Amino acid sequence: MGKLDGRVVIITGAARGQGEQEARLFAAEGARVVLGDVLDDQGEALAKELGEGVAKYVHLDVSQEDEWARAVGVAKDVFGKIDGLVNNAGILRFNELVNTPLEEFQQVIQVNQVGAFLGIRTVAPEIEAAGGGTIVNTASYTALTGMAYVGAYAATKHAILGLTRVAAMELAGKGIRVNAVCPGAVDTPMTNPAVLDPTADPEESAAAVAELYKKLVPLGRIGRPQEVAALALFLTSEDSSYITGQPFVVDGGWLAGVSIV
Ligand code: NAD
Repeated sequence: MGKLDGRVVIITGAARGQGEQEARLFAAEGARVVLGDVLDDQGEALAKELGEGVAKYVHLDVSQEDEWARAVGVAKDVFGKIDGLVNNAGILRFNELVNTPLEEFQQVIQVNQVGAFLGIRTVAPEIEAAGGGTIVNTASYTALTGMAYVGAYAATKHAILGLTRVAAMELAGKGIRVNAVCPGAVDTPMTNPAVLDPTADPEESAAAVAELYKKLVPLGRIGRPQEVAALALFLTSEDSSYITGQPFVVDGGWLAGVSIV
């Protein structure tokens, strides 16, 4: 028996990274998953691999209200109901606050923050209609502390915790629990130096990343996307039946304190 048998969960940003691992784990635990993303080829390929009847890919730019409505329609047509949502899609931009163009700041807010808001607003009534369920929002360790050069991103992640707490209070009576995951540094395309700087030597970059996190993180390494997926599974399953409105940090101990070793 799987922990998510009978459940139907929409996962945004599911074509790669943490969202992909959440889709794989949720499907392995018996859920049917609706994969939303803007990377259509990767999303379609993942849905095909997980299998018809288990996964359905839908193009979903989370920043667009009409695309949410369409995605919910597809999910209900294919699987009959929706009783879970993982708001995972997100983008990261590095910039000093004083040099951040307004368009860049607004773009990050539109995807990370407005996207999560639209997800909650569109999907919560469907979850209620299905008899209750769960919403997991993806914040970050930068929801709980500052980090230079990610001002727009950190602002959205702080906001996601506010949304999580308010949604948990408003939706508890409708049988919906709402929590947030706060990952530390996780090894995905978002943090991959080869993506951030295509001119960097991949081997040198990998060694530099390993050395950095060995010093910074008490557990001595960058996180794996599967480790975030395991937390999202806990918060989506009945194992967390008495938990709502909370942020959960998965960061190898990074936020535990200042490292001097
Ligand atoms: P990633 O870049 O590998 O994956 C993000 C996914 O979101 C991609 O598939 C991307 O196409 C999708 N996406 C981007 N904009 C979208 C949009 N407008 N609509 C729909 N999908 C969109 O990164 P990841 O590390 O897997 O990030 C997943 C989540 O975890 C994000 O919210 C990110 O902010 C958060 N996070 C990541 C880390 C980390 O270190 N990797 C740390 C803390 C929090």
